[in-house]
Amino acid sequence: MSYYAPSIEKLIESFERLPSIGHKTAVRLAFHMLDLNQQETEEFINSIKEAKEKLKYCSVCFNITDTDPCPICSSPKRDQSTICVVEDVRDIMAMERTHEYKGVYHVLHGTISPMNGIGPDDIKIKELISRLSNDQIKEVIIATNPRVEGEATSIYLSKIIKPLGVKVTRIAHGIPVGGDLEYTDEITLMKAMEGRREL
Ligand SMILES: [Zn+2]
Repeated sequence: MSYYAPSIEKLIESFERLPSIGHKTAVRLAFHMLDLNQQETEEFINSIKEAKEKLKYCSVCFNITDTDPCPICSSPKRDQSTICVVEDVRDIMAMERTHEYKGVYHVLHGTISPMNGIGPDDIKIKELISRLSNDQIKEVIIATNPRVEGEATSIYLSKIIKPLGVKVTRIAHGIPVGGDLEYTDEITLMKAMEGRREL
C-alpha cells in the first residue's frame, strides 16, 4: 500500500528508474520537484527536452555533441594524427580534464564482451578502422578501462590495427585494475597517458 497520491507515486517511480537512485533518494527528489516554482519546473523539463533533441553523435568520433563534427574533431588546435580510443563519452570528459591530451578521440560505445554477447561488430570498431585509412593517422592510443573486457578489446584492436602500419599504444596501469577512467583523478590519468607503451 502506498501512502502517496498516485501522481507523486509515479514521479517517485520515474526517479527510481535512474541509475544509483534508491527509493529514499527518489522520494526526496520527487518532493523537491514539487517544491519548485513554475519557472524552475519548466527550466528543468526544457533542459531534458533540449538535451534529447539537440544532442547527437559526432559522425567522426561518436562523441555526444550539438554540432557535427564535434568541437574536438573540428578544432584546428587538435592533433588529428593521434586518436585516443575510449569506451564511453564520459571518458572523453575525464581525459579533457587533464588538459594534457591534444589529439582527437574515438568512442567505441562499449567493449567486446563475449559473456554478454557483445562482439566487435556491436561497437564502433569498423568506424575506427575506416578512419585509419587516412594516412594522416600516426598513433592510436587505446584507453579502454583496465577490466577484462577493456583488455580483451585492447588486444583485439591492436591485432587489427598494427597490420595497417599505424602505431598502437596502451595507456599505462596507473589506473587501478577494475577502475573506471571516469572516476580516475587527473594526475593519475595524465601519468597513465605519459607512460603508455607500444603494443
Ligand atoms: Zn568528433
